[in-house]
Amino acid sequence: MSSYPTPSDIQRWYPEKWSEIAGNRDMVNLWRDFILHGPCNTLFTGPTRSGKTRTISLGLCALACTNRTETLDPCGSCAACRVTDQGRTNHVFLHSQGVNSEYSFHPIDCETVTPDDLENLYLDSKLYSNKTLIHLDEIAALRRRNLEGRLLKMVDESHAVWIASAISLKATTGRRKGQWVERLSKEMRARFPIKVGTSHPHPDDLPLWIEDRCRAWNISIADKEHTIPAMINKTECRVGFITHLFAAAASRSDRTISPELVSNFKFDVVD
Ligand SMILES: [Zn+2]
Repeated sequence: MSSYPTPSDIQRWYPEKWSEIAGNRDMVNLWRDFILHGPCNTLFTGPTRSGKTRTISLGLCALACTNRTETLDPCGSCAACRVTDQGRTNHVFLHSQGVNSEYSFHPIDCETVTPDDLENLYLDSKLYSNKTLIHLDEIAALRRRNLEGRLLKMVDESHAVWIASAISLKATTGRRKGQWVERLSKEMRARFPIKVGTSHPHPDDLPLWIEDRCRAWNISIADKEHTIPAMINKTECRVGFITHLFAAAASRSDRTISPELVSNFKFDVVD
């Protein structure tokens, strides 16, 4: 067995440093400001696969880390980094006790959170600390699930910092046809003084990022000059899909992205 990352490692990859994020400079700069001056309620919006969740995850980790690097990257090994890392997969409430971080961190998956989960959080004293960070993943699901009213009350009464993400969809009909919109109520939007849009990186941002990933994951690209532009073109600059291509290459014994791999690759475009 090689020690190179497996296809599954690549598929599940989360950036661990700010320099590993392709594009999205505004969002990265906002997190740097939060680290230096403290965070406030923020709504991150953007199309699927534009890296919202991954960037938020890195930001929360960097905020909570007790041993950040000079470039404000999380150290990856302190107790806070390890706890926020677990929070990506288990939707549990994680407290700062024993972690030594000034922040505690609560991830909430809005697609699966139950009224009981919200009730327990409402009764939790951590909700009344401005050093508690709550990440609401895919916040639009709360409205569909009739939980929005409950959450609005909690946001108003709590002292915690709420970091939410919402998917933007291109409106196909109506007054805002052609524009990117989120299915959020005005009331919900009003709770977030800062709103930042994420976007797919510009095609010019991607070649260097692709080469960096090749080095980090020991993947080769055949006929680079043509294959890299083809990767960017075929995936429409979606980093999540480019990562799928890397995972597919890692499943081959030559660990190579060939022009055929790119042209035969099927993407599930949901938006
Ligand atoms: Zn750390």
